[in-house]
Amino acid sequence: MISVDEHLAGILGAVRALPPLELALLEAAGGVLAEPVEAPVALPPFDNSAMDGYAVVAADVAGASADAPVTLPVIGDIAAGDAGVTALRPGLTARIMTGAAMPAGADAVIPVEWTDGGTATVRITRPCPPGHYIRRSGEDVVAGQVVVAEGARLGAAQLGMLAAVGRSHVRVRPRPRVVVLSTGAELREPGAKLAPGQIWDSNSFMLTAAVEEAGAKGYRQATVGDEPEEVRATLLDQLGRADAIVTTGGVSMGARDVVKEVFAEARPGEASTVAFGKVAMRPGKPQGFGLLEGVPIFTLPGNPVSAYVSFQVFVRPALRAMQGLPPEPLPTVTAVLAEDVRSPAGLRHFLRARLSYERGHYGVAPAESQGSHQLQSLSSADSLIVLPEDAEDVPAGSQVEVMRLPS
Ligand code: AMP
Ligand code: MG
Repeated sequence: MISVDEHLAGILGAVRALPPLELALLEAAGGVLAEPVEAPVALPPFDNSAMDGYAVVAADVAGASADAPVTLPVIGDIAAGDAGVTALRPGLTARIMTGAAMPAGADAVIPVEWTDGGTATVRITRPCPPGHYIRRSGEDVVAGQVVVAEGARLGAAQLGMLAAVGRSHVRVRPRPRVVVLSTGAELREPGAKLAPGQIWDSNSFMLTAAVEEAGAKGYRQATVGDEPEEVRATLLDQLGRADAIVTTGGVSMGARDVVKEVFAEARPGEASTVAFGKVAMRPGKPQGFGLLEGVPIFTLPGNPVSAYVSFQVFVRPALRAMQGLPPEPLPTVTAVLAEDVRSPAGLRHFLRARLSYERGHYGVAPAESQGSHQLQSLSSADSLIVLPEDAEDVPAGSQVEVMRLPS
């Protein structure tokens, strides 16, 4: 039996970051930037109005008040994107819209609310200092500045930033394509009728969603039964489109452990490092991992909670590494345990739980059901209490480490 850390280290030693690609912005969404992106120009590129109003020389309106408004002739309109009025002499004004370039000579904007809104002449009832309501060139970004760093995940705000500095394409490590396959002769598609002894496949749906939560692309495969040749053919067929494959089931000590059988003996000409073993954890003890023709394959146990916990502990960090990100575990908090718990000696124990937060402190309550087939206590959990290998009796009130699950 190897430790959780040893198994994870083996996986992280075997997976490689995907090569970067040049992608159009929206194709790059969710990818990880593989170059630092600099602004070729300042943002804003020119001084412009922060308001709809009137461009003025501030000194002209210094004496304006409600009792003694200043009236100025309006020489034209300046809309955003318009180069109509490019300069202004003292004693004149121009209507200006938000985002329109300031005309040379003007040094302030009077918001329309401080005026009568006139189009030939305008009455201004309040003064303002020079610089008022002007967005200065470069006050967002200076030319040459890195606006999105290498290694950043491209979410909505980052894509907006890249577009704002004029990039149509960027170099990214794309989201890994992960094929998810449930094995088991007893499995039926949700929606299908069950015969005696059959159950609906939950793992492949759960893990395809977990792949997406981890920032990769999930492709669910139809379930396959317990025929090794069928499982082998499906795996080989998927190799071409998968950056990684996740299977569930068929890796324990039963008489028909199909995934183990597939990899039991190397086929001539088939490059496989897939190996099986026991990892000192609960749930999730039977594990397998390796490369098949260079593609990482995670063979997770079949019990749904085992599969889920294994995914979060082993697959998620590996998918991050494949995106060139640090293979961080899920974030943890320290919390006060609400009940006594027992933990198996020598195994790292992951207990489904719910966190609470009161007066600056986290508390955590373990779920009543902790069987690895009991999916409901996972679906109502928000976290996993992580008890170290040497913990046995952990009394209520202890400080424990709690892994937050993605929500
Ligand atoms: P196995 O490791 O294939 O022996 O499966 C262990 C347990 O998990 C058995 O009770 C299976 O019926 C169950 N199981 C395996 N795969 C799935 C699945 N995709 N969805 C739900 N339960 C599963
Ligand atoms: Mg099975």
